[in-house]
Amino acid sequence: MANINDTTESHETEILDTDIEFACPHCGENLVIDYRGAGLEIKCTKCGGSALVPIPDGMKLADLDLDKGEILMQLFATRRNYMRAELEIQKLKACLKQMKETLAVMQEVVAEGISEK
Ligand SMILES: [Zn+2]
Repeated sequence: MANINDTTESHETEILDTDIEFACPHCGENLVIDYRGAGLEIKCTKCGGSALVPIPDGMKLADLDLDKGEILMQLFATRRNYMRAELEIQKLKACLKQMKETLAVMQEVVAEGISEK
């Protein structure tokens, strides 16, 4: 994958109106990227964690000055991120199920404790 986060490198660079600013979900580092990186996954310059570049409100793909190849790359990246999000949801659902089961057991124990008194 192309190294898009080169643009986020230094703080001396001026932030353009067309740039997207967002905080790294892992370390909170302020990341700045060219608007064409919207929807793509980049690596945080500070912690190296992967961060999804937010797509600004009201921004449409048609607004992007991209050729077909770049749009296709975006599409692939978006699909990949979508699939990853789906996996994440499945994991969270499994985690939630486990927590519910634990909670049910704990409630039973507490209920038994109360009835024994
Ligand atoms: Zn980070």
